[in-house]
Amino acid sequence: MRITAIRERAVSLARPVSNAAIDFHEMTASAVAVDIDTGRDVVTGYGFSSVGRYAQSGLIAERFAPRLLAGPDLADAGGTFDPAGAQETMRAGEKPGGDGDRAGAVGVLDMALWDAAAKIADMPLWRLVADRGGGGVGPVPVYATGGHYHGDGDLEALADEIRGYLDQGYSRVKIKCGRDGLDDDRARIEAVLPLLGGRGDRLAVDVNCCCRDGAEAAVMAEAFAPYGLAWIEEPGHPHDFAMLAMLAAGWPTPIATGENLFSWQETRNLLRHGGLRPDRDLLQIDPPLAYGLPEYETILRMAGAEGWSRARMLPHAGHLFAFHLVAGLGLGGHEVAADPGFVIGGLPAGSAVDDGRASLPDTPGIGFEGHQALWAVLGRLAPR
Ligand SMILES: [Mg+2]
Repeated sequence: MRITAIRERAVSLARPVSNAAIDFHEMTASAVAVDIDTGRDVVTGYGFSSVGRYAQSGLIAERFAPRLLAGPDLADAGGTFDPAGAQETMRAGEKPGGDGDRAGAVGVLDMALWDAAAKIADMPLWRLVADRGGGGVGPVPVYATGGHYHGDGDLEALADEIRGYLDQGYSRVKIKCGRDGLDDDRARIEAVLPLLGGRGDRLAVDVNCCCRDGAEAAVMAEAFAPYGLAWIEEPGHPHDFAMLAMLAAGWPTPIATGENLFSWQETRNLLRHGGLRPDRDLLQIDPPLAYGLPEYETILRMAGAEGWSRARMLPHAGHLFAFHLVAGLGLGGHEVAADPGFVIGGLPAGSAVDDGRASLPDTPGIGFEGHQALWAVLGRLAPR
């Protein structure tokens, strides 16, 4: 089963919102299509980058697509199409470390290969992943993510947005904080908490690495502690493990981090040096930003050996690929970009949310074809 063609284009993710670190006016993502000749027909798998790291057109065109096209047959010994075999091909000639953008270039191609593998197997990706030795099959715990900064009338717009998510069936939400100081953070939290019955454990805040040092992080942790939040996400620079260790030792609030780590070795360093607590903290490594599913399976094995259960795994971003992995691997929960105006937003067609859990779709593959906004982009990469 050979790869016969790869098509990629950069797609704008621009929208008028921001978090504490970036705004999204220039944001892009890579959309890819990979054709596989199965010997009987040609199956096309699709991938769409995770959010936040820009398109990887140059890396894909110059290095990773040519390697795949020149690489070996991806049928395993049993004749089944096996995307894991593509990792060695794509990563040949790449020095250890400095994973960065290349991990996303490999990751989006890996996503397309898994979409194709599930279609060839005529099953939804979550089932294929579960059959590889995963776990969960029941409804997926989900939470609605959003709560970005809105400009004028921010608090009213924030409350309206969160009401909309609760109306959709979500029971837990995450909002952005950290951009405009602690008084503003408190105002944002207190605008949302009444909508959640005053329960801080239904509200997470993502401060997008706003704290520049441990002193700032300590002040923030002290200010947030009375709310009993579900978690504080990305308090400081992703590699400031000493800051994380200080927070974990000093305050009970769970910490979520890992969306800006791109390999199993970086994740191992986090677990070695970040002082995180396996009974409450959350690891948010985002598979398509970190080389894809095979690397993520390595992360799960490594973290499991360090005492971390899959319930503490909460992949970043809210894309459809993560949904299938959360379902098939039995992870702790799925982040849903619940704003219906966002291109990667929502769930696969055939999945519905009820009381904070999402049902599983039956469509073969990842389900891009049934997602209106994504298919408007990916459909243009279909074979002609
Ligand atoms: Mg985040």
